[in-house]
Amino acid sequence: MKTNPIVQIQAIDLPLLKEKGVQLFIQRDDTLHPHVSGNKWRKLKYNVLEAKQKGKTCLLTFGGAFSNHIAATAAAAQLAGMNSIGVIRGKDADPENSTLKFATSCGMQLQYVDRAEFRELRASGWKGVEVGNSEAVYVLPEGGSNDLAVKGCKEITGDWKEHYDFACCALGTGATFAGLVNGVSGDTHCLGFPAIKDQGYLSDEVSLFLEEPSRQNWELIREYHFGKYGKVNADLINFMNDFYIKTGIPLDPIYTGKMIYGLIDMIKNDYFNPGTKVIAIHTGGLQGNAGINMRLSKKGLQTLNYPISN
Ligand SMILES: *Cc1c(COP(=O)(O)O)cnc(C)c1O
Repeated sequence: MKTNPIVQIQAIDLPLLKEKGVQLFIQRDDTLHPHVSGNKWRKLKYNVLEAKQKGKTCLLTFGGAFSNHIAATAAAAQLAGMNSIGVIRGKDADPENSTLKFATSCGMQLQYVDRAEFRELRASGWKGVEVGNSEAVYVLPEGGSNDLAVKGCKEITGDWKEHYDFACCALGTGATFAGLVNGVSGDTHCLGFPAIKDQGYLSDEVSLFLEEPSRQNWELIREYHFGKYGKVNADLINFMNDFYIKTGIPLDPIYTGKMIYGLIDMIKNDYFNPGTKVIAIHTGGLQGNAGINMRLSKKGLQTLNYPISN
């Protein structure tokens, strides 16, 4: 894995932004690497280094059938010359879906377990997984979220040449957002957009990963999960297609699409004062779009109408 990729920060030009006097920039972490994209590249960076340093030869991790983390870990392991094992939630997961096919093509060995078993394995700290030589195995938690992942995500702000009043990113586990909060200076306010219906524990998760837990320069915006994790509707898909036409930026509907939808909605509703400078982190996730389009077209619904990469 190239360790110092070029970070692109793209200024967004939309009539709404001019009208409201808000400057919006999108940091294109989706372009950090073709297969280990976005925040997964940052989350894996120090973990892969640590695994190698400890002499481990296999990465073991866990996730759903369309997981960005599974795809990224498989690619990162291959790049690092390591083996990988992915424990997939759902005995009914389709090994031919684009995510799992990609992971397999990287040499990842997949084990399918039903949902109850997955929960049990998680509760046991993944001790029950068949791994062969356990000495050789480096375990990455679900979503890859641990202290080394947060350390990598702190580098999101490493290439900033100017000051931003607000910095935004999507949340699954919250590790990426915590890294962002650790990376900004105290007068940048961070807005996190949970992709899940948060029952309140997410802010505790974020706090656990903060270098200064007492920091007040962040908050979670909980109105834009569209019902639950993974759920999409026509309004969201149409918004993303329109955003692509106007900006050339492809989004994913699980994380970045919901964040940008929310951010634009907040701009419309005058959440930000004129003169405000906002940066949003494109955390990647585009490999999942093939699976999303398959799901949507099976139901006869509008699909994402921009080029789909994986
Ligand atoms: C995994 C992922 C996230 C969530 O990252 P966390 O560190 O778990 O909060 C956000 N965006 C994209 C595109 C992802 O793939």
